Amino acid sequence: MGSRFDVTVVANNAEEGDEYIDLAVNEISRIEKLISSWDPNSQTSEINRNAGLRPVKVDQELFDLIQRAIGISKLSDGAFDISYASMDKIWKFDGSMTEMPKAEDIENSVSKVGYQNIILDQDSSSVFLKLEGMKIGFGAIGKGYAADKAKSLLIQKGVVAGIINASGDMNTWGFQPDGKEWKVAITNPLDKNKAFALMPVTNAAVVTSGNYEKYVTFNGKQYSHIIDPRTGYPTTGIISVTVFAPKAELADALATSIFVMGIEVGLNRVNQLPKIECIIIDDKGAIHTSNNIEIDKI
Ligand code: ADP
Ligand code: MG
Repeated sequence: MGSRFDVTVVANNAEEGDEYIDLAVNEISRIEKLISSWDPNSQTSEINRNAGLRPVKVDQELFDLIQRAIGISKLSDGAFDISYASMDKIWKFDGSMTEMPKAEDIENSVSKVGYQNIILDQDSSSVFLKLEGMKIGFGAIGKGYAADKAKSLLIQKGVVAGIINASGDMNTWGFQPDGKEWKVAITNPLDKNKAFALMPVTNAAVVTSGNYEKYVTFNGKQYSHIIDPRTGYPTTGIISVTVFAPKAELADALATSIFVMGIEVGLNRVNQLPKIECIIIDDKGAIHTSNNIEIDKI
């Protein structure tokens, strides 16, 4: 999935543990084959190739994932949008940009973006991207989805406890062999070698979207590599968002959404959602948290 997965399981012996880990790895690979927009043989690539042409029949699993992604687009007023993938790459964050792109070019860059143009038909289990040149991608939700699926497969196989770590996005269940809760360290985006909090995560996911390195500065303002799919402008003001949720999929998607929604709207939205909490760090290093969170500072 272009990202590293680490799987931890509690088992009776190493052999049993290895078997469980193999199951998880196979499940993650299976999902990657379905949702990768890089693999030309995936159903996702087939949807993209047929944009503006015809609906494509897909597995129920992919259909459902797209339907949930559209749900998150609605929840976030379009801040989250899997059709971000067709955006023209006019912003570069490798130090090569010397001036702001032109307003007109920025506006044009998002002309193919819009979840309203992803047409689902439940009866035929098909997906149609209405505009030619449209594309979908699961960069902000796929890792979480794969982690949830691997976790539920292992639970189904009787694994009592474990952690799926998808490049720092943590998804846990059960308890450590000594009966203690799993604890996840939240790193300080201003100093990646230092954790600023240790949070218990019991049968839940914690996902961080970070922005520490990739940004460009114009007129003293930092523009991040996460771009608002509605406007084509990079987001400003936030350097890291951590979301706690029962499922990694929602946590993953919300972390990206909050970046785009901004501190006030993001917190507001999270405070209305049951069992979801977040920690936002702004570009001055200040910490903003949702209503029901208590940070154990270390
Ligand atoms: P990471 O996993 O790299 O820490 P995120 O979970 O925030 O970061 O996902 C960022 C990725 O999500 C981008 O690389 C891109 O593939 C995709 N993406 C970017 N903006 C959006 C958006 N507004 N809606 C949905 N997906 C997005
Ligand atoms: Mg994300």
